[in-house]
Amino acid sequence: MVGRFAPSPTGPMHLGNLRTALLAWLQVRAAGGRFLLRFEDLDTGRVRGAAYQGTRDDLHWLGLDWDAEYRQSERLEVYAAALARLDTYPCTCTRSEIAASIQDSAGAPHGHEAVYPGTCRDAAKRHPDRPAARRWRVPDETVCVCDGWTGADLCQNLRREVGDFVVQRGDGVYAYHLAVVADDADMGVTDVLRGADLWEAAPRQAALQRALGYLRPGYWHVPLMTDFGGERLAKRGGAPSVQALREGGADPGVLRADLARSLGWPVGKTAGLDELIGEFRRSVMN
Ligand code: GLU
Ligand code: ZN
Repeated sequence: MVGRFAPSPTGPMHLGNLRTALLAWLQVRAAGGRFLLRFEDLDTGRVRGAAYQGTRDDLHWLGLDWDAEYRQSERLEVYAAALARLDTYPCTCTRSEIAASIQDSAGAPHGHEAVYPGTCRDAAKRHPDRPAARRWRVPDETVCVCDGWTGADLCQNLRREVGDFVVQRGDGVYAYHLAVVADDADMGVTDVLRGADLWEAAPRQAALQRALGYLRPGYWHVPLMTDFGGERLAKRGGAPSVQALREGGADPGVLRADLARSLGWPVGKTAGLDELIGEFRRSVMN
């Protein structure tokens, strides 16, 4: 078993990120597997240099360790090789052109992002003077992914519900879906435990895995933490950072217990990692 925590180093971690990291670590350590830390830093414009060490410090403070560390920005040849094996085409549409063509047609199905209408499948409709993104010609098939955490199935017809999606942006940055799938395969990740905000992305990633001949890992999408008002915690929303708690003298054992209690686990005022590994086995693996 190989698991990973894959933060984007775009700012300080908040409690929600830390709880996801804790669960990913517990899952791996409960099974005696390897745990990877992977910084998803391809979008260099959003990267904050201090976030690499800040993330490491936060994880270590909670008691989490990892067996290997990677940066996506140092692995561009892995993504280039994967991209070269996909059936892609250049797309020169602007956001507003895509939005306008969607309004002309039936519109996006409920609950999904806008479906790209496939304009640039027709080479004559491309604008050679503009920078081109690359889109993957998605297969016309329904892909289903089962989630280990909730037991739910998610099925999407990619052609109808997603459309050809971007695998490399116009500025050359490899898209998240491509990089994550190439990395998980290359690093031998067997189980992906991450936030529920990425559940909708799982069928796209499963389809890429199939097209590239990769094994599909198990998926575990854990609930996002919310504040007292039920709003999901976000880096931008002013959620307290782990760094602030750490530097303010918080007790990591108390925080571990708070995080465990927020999942409904029966723990006392403080909790050790071995206790939580046992709790993970009892409440999740059974
Ligand atoms: N880098 C993504 C994030 O921080 C997580 C990617 C993943 O776990 O698949 O939300
Ligand atoms: Zn286009």
